Parts: sequence; structure tokens; C-alpha cells
Amino acid sequence: MSGILVFAETIEGRVADSAAQLVTAATQLGGNITLGLVAADTTAASQQASFSGVGKVLAVRAASDLYDHKFNAAALRAMIENVKPEAVLMAWSIRSAAFAAGVAEEADLGYASDVIALDRGESGALTAIRPVYGGKVHAELEFSKDAPALLLLRQDVWAPAASGATPEVKEVAAPEPAAERIRHKEFRRPEGGVDLTRSDIIFAVGRGVGEPEKIETFAEIARRAGAGLGASRPVVDAGWLPAPHQIGQTGVTVKPRLYVAFGISGAMQHLAGMQSSAKIVAVNTDPDAAIFEVAHIGAVADIHEVAEELMARLQDAGRPA
Ligand SMILES: Cc1cc2nc3c(=O)[nH]c(=O)nc-3n(C[C@H](O)[C@H](O)[C@H](O)COP(=O)(O)OP(=O)(O)OC[C@H]3O[C@@H](n4cnc5c(N)ncnc54)[C@H](O)[C@@H]3O)c2cc1C
Repeated sequence: MSGILVFAETIEGRVADSAAQLVTAATQLGGNITLGLVAADTTAASQQASFSGVGKVLAVRAASDLYDHKFNAAALRAMIENVKPEAVLMAWSIRSAAFAAGVAEEADLGYASDVIALDRGESGALTAIRPVYGGKVHAELEFSKDAPALLLLRQDVWAPAASGATPEVKEVAAPEPAAERIRHKEFRRPEGGVDLTRSDIIFAVGRGVGEPEKIETFAEIARRAGAGLGASRPVVDAGWLPAPHQIGQTGVTVKPRLYVAFGISGAMQHLAGMQSSAKIVAVNTDPDAAIFEVAHIGAVADIHEVAEELMARLQDAGRPA
């Protein structure tokens, strides 16, 4: 039992950005790093996994690039069998959540999800820190040195590792899952879907926006400023914006250059998804709102008045309407 197995998620054949972050976390722990991936074109996918620190790539060939959690589980089991790692690191994502715990149970591995920090105890035992009780408390979990652990790491906490390695690539086989009565044929992207994790600037609206009709103003300001439109959970729960706009513990985690929060109180579940933003600006009528504790710039003001002013200024700046 030695070294770290990084299970890299592939999305339609492309190695996900989270893989480079997992490699940084693995490097922090020390030891050999093997990166495992599942793809239809293992050669193309392996070429995207040349992260500095990775010594070896274990590639499992899939029949197609459609995500299949059962096949991913079989592939992960084959990789664990092959590497016999001290720890398996995976991204805490909707995909890994579908099969990681089951594999940990079957392979008798320790398990923790939503890990935000890793360390070695004095004895060299692996320690993982994860928030519990909605983030009110951080639990420190120590895994026995003799028992491997499978850990799902929160995304965008570790910086991505640089590329540049030329790891040895080895193909390993995984058993195809038995045919099922229901077969997954394809994934379709939702129309108008957003990926806020790629936005450099985010304007986010909270319940303070008051009514759904007002959201269009903020959407227009965001468009003019070249920003993505984010939201707090009540806005999504009310059906005012679709789920991909939600930022926070049960939404996406973002780290833009600029995050502007309009009418968002700053509940810890929202902060969990945006507090690593480089510059946070908050507009709220309540001077005691918790958002001001993380904001670099705060305005105690009515968001609708600020929106009017912003709209005028963005127009003056000659931005396209
Ligand atoms: C398990 C769990 C998971 C959760 N996950 C998430 C999550 O992923 N993301 C998330 O956002 N929340 C999440 N929540 C909900 C979270 O606890 C808060 O309820 C939520 O973030 C509050 O959203 P808000 O700030 O928009 O609304 P509120 O807390 O109601 O705040 C509205 C703010 O708007 C201000 N305001 C009102 N009118 C104006 C105005 N005209 N101008 C300026 N300011 C104004 C008010 O002063 C207030 O501060 C979760 C909760 C739980 C229990």
C-alpha cells in the first residue's frame, strides 16, 4: 500500500479541471502519484493528464464517453486493485457522489466527502477536514496509517498543478456492467445552461431583488458588463432562475476575479460557494448583513437604485445594449 491514486473525472472525453487540483493535493501528501481516468479515446485523454508530479496514468477504455456511474465504479475498483494506494483522491462532484461511497464500502476504504483540507498527523496518518452541520463546525477525521482512504475533495480549494510531466501510460481493463433494463442513451445540455465556474466576473442576486420581474435588470447589467449571473438559493427555489445559477453549498463553487452580491445576506451556505473570490463587492440595505464581513467593498444601499446607476454608466461606457 503506497502512493496516491488520483481519479480524474472526464466529461465527454475531456479531463475535468478538477483533476489538476487533485494532483496538487496529492503532491502535498507526498509519495508516487498515479492518475486514473476513464475515456473512449484513452490516448487523447491521457495526453491531457500530463500534470507535474504524476508518475503514471492508468487509463480504462470505455465503450463511449457517455457518463456511466456503474462503469466508472468498476474502473475505479480495477485501478485500486492495480495501485493499492494509500489514498484515493476524487473531486466532490455530482458524478463521483454517484459511485464513490459504494466503491469505498466494497473495497473497505475509509471515506470522507467535501474535504476542504488535508494534512498528515504526527504519526504520518492522513487527516481530512470537512465541514459538518451546514458548515458551522469543521470535523477533523484521522485515517489509520494501515487502512487506505477514499476522499472526495471540494473543488477550487487547491490550485491547479502545472502541466509538463510525461507520465507512463498503462491501460487497465474493467468489466462492462451487465446489461440493464433501462439504458442511458445520451446527455443533452439544458438550453441556455450556464457554467459560472468559468466566469471571471459574477453579478449575483439574492432574495433582496424582491420579485422575479426585477431579475431581468440585473441580467441585463451582467450582460453589459460581460459577467455571469449568479443567485442565492431562495431565488432558485422560487423558480426565478434555473438551478445552474445557484452559488453555494448546494450550488456551484466559484472563484471569480470579481463577485458582486446584490441583496444577499451572506448566509454561511452561500459564502461556502463564493468566499474565495478575489474581490467581493456587496450591496445591501442592512448594515449588519453578514455579507459585509467577507466583502472587500460594501455599499449600504438599495440594489434597485444601484442597478439604475450601473445601467446608465454601462450605457455611457459604450457597451453594447
Ligand atoms: C443545507 C442547506 C444548504 C443551502 N445551500 C445554499 C446554497 O447553496 N446557496 C445559497 O445561497 N443558500 C443556501 N442555503 C440557504 C441559506 O441558508 C440562506 O437561506 C440563503 O443563502 C439566503 O439567501 P439570500 O441572502 O438571498 O436571502 P436573505 O437571507 O433573505 O437575504 C436577503 C437580503 O437582501 C437584503 N435586501 C432586501 N431588500 C433589499 C434592497 N432593496 N436592496 C438591498 N438589499 C436588500 C436584506 O437586507 C437581506 O440581507 C442553504 C441552506 C441549507 C439549510
